[in-house]
This record gives sequence, structure tokens and C-alpha cells, in this order.
Amino acid sequence: MKTLGKIVGALALLGALVFAYISWIYSNSLLRVETAEKAIALTYDDGPNPPHTQALLELLAQRKVKATFFLKGRNVEAFPELAAQVVAQGHEVANHSYHHYAMGALRKEEMLAELVRVNELILVTTGVQPSLFRPPFGIQGAGLKRALDELGMLSVLADASGTDWEVTDARQVADLVLADVGPGSIVLLHDGHGDVDGPDEQDSRAHSVAATALIIDELRAKGYRFVTVSELVGLAEG
Ligand SMILES: [Zn+2]
Repeated sequence: MKTLGKIVGALALLGALVFAYISWIYSNSLLRVETAEKAIALTYDDGPNPPHTQALLELLAQRKVKATFFLKGRNVEAFPELAAQVVAQGHEVANHSYHHYAMGALRKEEMLAELVRVNELILVTTGVQPSLFRPPFGIQGAGLKRALDELGMLSVLADASGTDWEVTDARQVADLVLADVGPGSIVLLHDGHGDVDGPDEQDSRAHSVAATALIIDELRAKGYRFVTVSELVGLAEG
């Protein structure tokens, strides 16, 4: 029994260490914001990506909603005017890496290079210096955590996802989001694709745009308003 006790003790210690390590890795990550205000941040990943980004911009303008776009560096290079248009229409732009690699295993130096490259690209293209980053696939490692800290950047995840890379029915995408949102929520949707190599596939993002209309209209009817991620962070309590 003594041996068993030691094994259980060692496992408990190991579990606590793993938990502490993972907590540290994600300590500069935001899932949602603590606030009583009925404010929500809509976020879009992997663009700019014609024609879906234009369709989304048109819809957001019609409904007077500002959102946050996590831009993929490769697409900013390919579609610079569209990236600039996102900013010209009052939306927030942020960094979603250049290549869209899963970044858990990269070293700090590799991460810094990837982050700085896209920050500079976005600055030159849109005039905005990004301070927010969304890790591709939501995967964060120690190297990324250290690189973000060094650059003073915040990692932004989400607490409500439309799973729109898999679900292609707009009503279903909207329902997945509506089931999870509350005051201070960050909503994850996509106007582009997460491919690492080659040109973006041409799968439609029309369902993500259509779902956005449903989400905005139904949440507005419940008294919610829509803000950028930075504005949402400004509403944080405590
Ligand atoms: Zn992505």
C-alpha cells in the first residue's frame, strides 16, 4: 500500500505540474471577457479572401456592426487592397500568422519571426499596428507564449464557435454560436481558409456570411451590441 500511495502522490504532483504549465502557456490568452454588459465581439479568421470578405464587409456595413479580422499574412500579401478596405470600414485587424502553421512546437525565435513578419505586413498595408494574435487551430506553446509576451501582444481564442469550417448550413452555424454566447463573448467565424500551402481553396464562405446576418439580428433583438475585441477588453470588470 505504501508503494501505491507513493505512485498516487507522484501522479497527483505530475498532474498539478502539467496543469500549472498549461495554465502558464495560456495565461496571456483571452477566451471571453468578464462583463455584465451585453456586448459581443464577432471575429473572422483566415482572410482577406475575395469574394467572401467583400460580402461580409457589405453585410456588416448595412447592419452598422464593427468586427475583428484575424488576417493571414499570405492573404494580406495576395489581397492588400481588401485588407486596407477592412480597416477603412472601421474594423479591427489582427495577426493570424503568415503560414497558418500549428504553432505548439515552434521555438520563440521562430515564433517572433512569424509574428513580426505579419505585424509589419499589416502595418505597411493598412497603417495599423496589430496588438492581438489568434493562434492557428487555437494551439499555443511555450515558444508562442514567450514571443507574444516579448511583443506585448495578447492571444485571442473564443468561447463561441460556429464550427463553420465543417458545418455549411447557415442556420446551423448560427445556432451553434447562439447556444454559447453571453455577455463578453468572443465569437469565432471564418471569411477565409486555413490552408498552409498553395492557393486558398475555393470552398464558399457564403454560409458564414449568411450566419452572421442571423446572429446579429437575433442577438440584437435580445439587447446585445457588437464591439471589436479591443473594445470588449475595455469593458472588462475587476
Ligand atoms: Zn485560421
